[in-house]
Amino acid sequence: MLKSEVKVERSPAPGLGLLVPILAIAAAALLVGAGRTTASPPPTGLPACEAADRPAPHRAYDEWDETMLDPALTLGPDYRPPDLGETTVGGRRVTLRAFVVAPLKTMLDAAATEGHAISVTSAYRSFGEQERLVAASPGLNDEVARPGHSEHQLGTTVDLAGGHGWLRVNASRYGFLLSFPAGRGPQWTCYRDEPWHFRYFGPKRAQAIEQSGLSPREWLWARQPEAADDSHGDSRDGARRDG
Ligand SMILES: [Zn+2]
Repeated sequence: MLKSEVKVERSPAPGLGLLVPILAIAAAALLVGAGRTTASPPPTGLPACEAADRPAPHRAYDEWDETMLDPALTLGPDYRPPDLGETTVGGRRVTLRAFVVAPLKTMLDAAATEGHAISVTSAYRSFGEQERLVAASPGLNDEVARPGHSEHQLGTTVDLAGGHGWLRVNASRYGFLLSFPAGRGPQWTCYRDEPWHFRYFGPKRAQAIEQSGLSPREWLWARQPEAADDSHGDSRDGARRDG
C-alpha cells in the first residue's frame, strides 16, 4: 500500500517536475525586473524578453493585426509589405501601408481641430534602415529593436511628436494603440515605455485591446496557438482576464 501511495504522489508527467521550478525562476526573474510598476505579474506563459530570431507567427502581409513582435520574434530581412506607399502627412513625406494613411490623417486632423499639432517622426522602416538605426544607437537595447524585430517594419506603425496626452485618450478610436504604454512595463512589453510609438490595429481591435488592460504584446500572445493550451480558456476572453 505504502509503495503505491508513494507512486501516486509522483508527477504523472516527468517533464512537469522540472518545468514548474523553471517557470518559478523565470517568474521571479521577471518580477525582479519589474521595479517601477505595481501592476499584476505577466500572464502565465508570456515568453521571456530574450534576444533570438524565431520567425514571428502570423507574419503574412494580411495578418498585420495579428503579428506579434518582440526581441525573440522576427519578421526577417525580406518582410516588405507590397502595398507600401509614400504619402504626405502633416507636411512630411512618410512611407506606410496604404490602408493606414486615411485613419492616420483623420486622427491628426481631429487632434489639430482640438488644438494639438501632431507630426509623424518615423513610419515604415526597412530591415536595413533598422540595422543602421541600431548601429547608430549603441547601448540602447531596451529602446531600439534589433533589425527584423521592429513594428516599424510592419508598415503600420508610426512615431508621433506632440499631443501625447490627447493621443493616449483618443488614438484607439482611430485604430491606433501605444505598443509600450507606461502602465505595462518592460516585463510585459520588453521595452521601456514609448509615449510616441503607435501601431495601427483598426478601431475595433485597438479598443478591444485597450479595454483588456493588456499591452498589445500580451493581447496578441493570448491569441497565439502556443498559448491556447494553457489555462487562459478562450483566447479572446482570456485576454480580458485581468482588466
Ligand atoms: Zn517607434
